[in-house]
Amino acid sequence: MTSLPISINRIRKVYGNYIALDDVSLEIRAGEFLTLLGPSGSGKTTLLMALAGFTRPDDGNLRIGERDVTRLAPNRRDIGIVFQNYALFPHMSVLANVEYPLRLRKIRKAEAHERAQAALSRVKLDGYGDRDIAALSGGQRQRVALARAIVFEPRVMLMDEPLSALDKNLREHMQFEIRKLHDDLGITTIYVTHDQREALTMSDRIAVMNAGRIQQIDTPDEIYHRPRTQFVAEFMGEANILPGDAFSEGARPASDMVMIRAESFHLEPPAGEAIALTGRLAAKAFRGENWLLQVTTGERQVLFSIPATRAAGCEALTPGSEITAWAARDHLHVFAREAAT
Ligand code: ADP
Ligand code: MG
Repeated sequence: MTSLPISINRIRKVYGNYIALDDVSLEIRAGEFLTLLGPSGSGKTTLLMALAGFTRPDDGNLRIGERDVTRLAPNRRDIGIVFQNYALFPHMSVLANVEYPLRLRKIRKAEAHERAQAALSRVKLDGYGDRDIAALSGGQRQRVALARAIVFEPRVMLMDEPLSALDKNLREHMQFEIRKLHDDLGITTIYVTHDQREALTMSDRIAVMNAGRIQQIDTPDEIYHRPRTQFVAEFMGEANILPGDAFSEGARPASDMVMIRAESFHLEPPAGEAIALTGRLAAKAFRGENWLLQVTTGERQVLFSIPATRAAGCEALTPGSEITAWAARDHLHVFAREAAT
């Protein structure tokens, strides 16, 4: 089965005088797994609903493959959708839920049955067809929702926070499962989450959204290590954003705005070229795999995240102690001038 590219072109959506989507453009390649990542209210669901056909954009257009779908009815867009709240029919069996999209498409009963069984097998629910939805766990229900979304072999999949109701371990397991399902089927997928780690784990590319705009579209590695804006830097992890002259070693011009991740720091100097920051401990916390040290340097607060395996001495640190941490110089990311405002 061939998958299709998606083209989102200058989409605008206004509610009253609130701009939910402000001129959003995005090209998704055929077979790509792209994640819309952003805080609550940034417009992720609105964009997904516009693609699905449940929200009519005020301006702009949407293409799936060669087809302009901007004004096409939802059921004619050939899109599989999975929501956070499953949207399963509670009074139907698992199998009837999965067969439902095929019944809508007037597929013969025997064939629908066979295809629904195959979809259930894909999501590792062989033998669950006769169960009631009410008798399933949250993770199993989400698998049924996945099976229902893929059963009619859509060429595009949209998923809106499908894992956010699950607990952490199951969520992390399902991240791999969904990515594997995508890789097996090759369906172009747009996935929505507000969880940056989930986006990093699953995606070919991430589009970071804030206040109805896309801030950056890039691979997980680029987004994390070379954020284009302070918003992206801070949303993606523990970022220290400082003027270049804040460092006690390896300083840059004060006019440079630089970013360095908390986990780049160590309590001993690295082998190659290094930068260093010196300050006084304000607070510390043990987090299992690391120690988080909050340090005051001049007027600023910086964060050091020291891996627990190399944190000898952290236990004994008391507030007020002077502390110096080093990082490899190439971990320093200098913002482009226009982005540092
Ligand atoms: P996200 O999915 O990123 O959390 P949404 O796309 O749901 O964000 O919402 C973006 C903004 O648009 C929010 O401020 C939300 O309150 C507003 N919004 C969404 N749908 C409607 C609606 N039907 N009427 C009014 N405002 C809406
Ligand atoms: Mg949402």
